[in-house]
Amino acid sequence: MKEYFGNIYSALATIFIGMKITFKHMFVPSVTIQYPEVKPQLPERERNRLYVNMDDCIGCDQCSRACPVSCIEIETTKSIPGEDLGKTSNGKKKALWVTNFTIDFAKCCYCQLCVFPCPTDCIYMTDVYEFSEWDRDKLIYDFATLTPDERQEKRDNLAKFNAEKEAEKLKAASEPKEPKSEIKKDQQEEK
Ligand code: SF4
Ligand code: SF4
Repeated sequence: MKEYFGNIYSALATIFIGMKITFKHMFVPSVTIQYPEVKPQLPERERNRLYVNMDDCIGCDQCSRACPVSCIEIETTKSIPGEDLGKTSNGKKKALWVTNFTIDFAKCCYCQLCVFPCPTDCIYMTDVYEFSEWDRDKLIYDFATLTPDERQEKRDNLAKFNAEKEAEKLKAASEPKEPKSEIKKDQQEEK
């Protein structure tokens, strides 16, 4: 009988302690938010998803070389004479077509080391932090603005230009050269 009433007392005491804590917290300001309906206030220097403004990218590869996990892949193609790629917003002349620029956010550790060396400040952290995907491949972002056909066209143009230059060089090398003694003789006659 003593044990029976002891158990009842213990149960009531436990409920009372629990309710006391619950009741106390009803009057304390909440420290949680109703995410995702309510967005958290992010710190001033938060690190989120990167963005690359390709209008200002000169394809220098410095961001890629600074990345400790090699998640930035860049491919550039030299422009050929006559092509004008314009300038960046801070006045740097562009000379390379950026034919590939991907960042794999599944590998990125958000260290921001790629941001600092950029000479045109075109790679930077945004405030976007909600970009989870079921498929890891969807976390590979392609920032290059050229279409696949345009990328191939730039590569083909450069290959054609290099081939023509090489052919010219070979032609010049195979042409018989005038002996030096003959040149001197001609010059003396001219005098
Ligand atoms: S934030 Fe760090 S890990 Fe991510 S791309 Fe830049 S350098 Fe690489
Ligand atoms: S460092 Fe800047 S300019 Fe150079 S390739 Fe990276 S994003 Fe482009």
